[in-house]
Amino acid sequence: MVNELISEINFRGANFVKTVDISRLPEKENMGYDTAILIGILLSPEFILGLSKETIAVPSEFWEKEHRAQELAEWVADFIVGKGYKAFAQSDGNLINGYFEEATKTSVLPHKKIAILSGLGWIGKNNLLIAEEYGCAFCMCTVLTNASLSIENKKVIMPKCGGCTVCKDICPVNVIHGTTWEPNMNRDLIVDVYHCKCCLKCLVHCPWTQNYMKSNITL
Ligand code: SF4
Ligand code: SF4
Repeated sequence: MVNELISEINFRGANFVKTVDISRLPEKENMGYDTAILIGILLSPEFILGLSKETIAVPSEFWEKEHRAQELAEWVADFIVGKGYKAFAQSDGNLINGYFEEATKTSVLPHKKIAILSGLGWIGKNNLLIAEEYGCAFCMCTVLTNASLSIENKKVIMPKCGGCTVCKDICPVNVIHGTTWEPNMNRDLIVDVYHCKCCLKCLVHCPWTQNYMKSNITL
């Protein structure tokens, strides 16, 4: 089933798929599931360039790919359930009562936590997951399951922001505090999510995202 599932996820538009052991997390976080599947879809270098130069005013590609990643997660959960296992897609439509707290804007098991366990990257001062290869230029969604899949947990990567403050300096509403992430750190020490305008400037202008864009763009 694993090979069939992974090749179908890739065929349906994912750029990366990771399977993560979450069995050692507290049950209130893993909700009784032992494996998480992380699905990622890259933002195009052209889109990053357009936002950088402000030739793109509306970041519709970002929202389309967010939506696509969630649709894909829901398809994966249905596929796994069809094979006789339990699975739960952590799409926005499913992350309601008991899975997401609106008041604090936190989910029980965030995609970013799963991404950290997978070794994909680290949490930057912009509170986004940064992958060395892609910067923050991707959308993610996750599926929790009890299907037996081979897993690829890696060592937690500590932030590689160093002395950079680009995201803090560029945020138009000053909600990034410039704090370096540490495991189990309260997110509110890094960013005030309640006043974030979702403008994506901190995503686009992060040097890691710019490196991804410059390495992959065809001009
Ligand atoms: S998305 Fe925009 S408003 Fe939100 S933290 Fe990033 S730069 Fe600031
Ligand atoms: S812009 Fe700089 S400080 Fe902000 S997340 Fe990227 S590397 Fe870290």
